Amino acid sequence: VIEIADLHKRFGAHPVLQGVSFTAHQGEVVSLIGASGSGKSTLLRCMNLLEVPDSGRIVIAGEQVAFRNDRKGQTMVADPRQVERIRTRLAMVFQQFNLWPHMTVLENLIEVPVRVLGQARPQAIELAETLLAKVGIADKRHHYPAFLSGGQQQRVAIARALATRPSVMLFDEPTSALDPELAGEVLKVIRNLAQEGCTMVLVTHEMAFAREVSSKVLFLHQGRIEEVGTAQQVFESPSSERCRQFVNAQF
Ligand code: ATP
Ligand code: MG
Repeated sequence: VIEIADLHKRFGAHPVLQGVSFTAHQGEVVSLIGASGSGKSTLLRCMNLLEVPDSGRIVIAGEQVAFRNDRKGQTMVADPRQVERIRTRLAMVFQQFNLWPHMTVLENLIEVPVRVLGQARPQAIELAETLLAKVGIADKRHHYPAFLSGGQQQRVAIARALATRPSVMLFDEPTSALDPELAGEVLKVIRNLAQEGCTMVLVTHEMAFAREVSSKVLFLHQGRIEEVGTAQQVFESPSSERCRQFVNAQF
């Protein structure tokens, strides 16, 4: 579903991604781990084009992202419609839930399907209600986000991401703003998605969870993938000493 090849991204003089390559196949759960500043969020943001990489290749569901340089030599995505398409295929869930505060839970879920994707409102509502039931908050559909707990808000954010029927879900530390108990309910939802065969790329500090759900784990260090393997390989017998130290420090 996703193919990333030799991705580079710098901010000013600071190289943040220095040649990242990996693939995620249908149904795989790929976890990205690594120290703060290693480039995990930047990699996710490049994947759904919130950032434009300087060079490299991104293929999402068979479609290659077309980059070109503008007059100043800045790399950009050639086609704004492609950006829109890619963003609905790769739905992202952030650490801060980013729900629209002036909309109810249900309105948050149907906004993009109805206004951007042009779906009929009744169908969008039907899907939204199914998804809210799935994440366990159907009874809160007419509430505003401010009246929900952090864990409930994050579950709404996950349902909202699913409402565009993405091919891939991207999670950037979805539980790190939550108390352990609320984090648990969010992890349960993500675990269910993984079991249903939802393809996802997950940045997390929850090592036990990553070990449990991942088909593949990538350890990022200074913008390079320093270790890649199954959860068992990366957590139990990494070949990189740095990866071993990082993993041991987390448990
Ligand atoms: P964390 O675990 O703290 O979330 P991370 O692995 O997600 O870290 P990134 O957020 O990808 O790391 O950041 C990698 C580096 O790029 C950091 O040094 C950061 O300061 C820098 N960086 C990220 N975004 C920008 C930006 N928009 N402008 C300038 N520098 C940035
Ligand atoms: Mg980050």
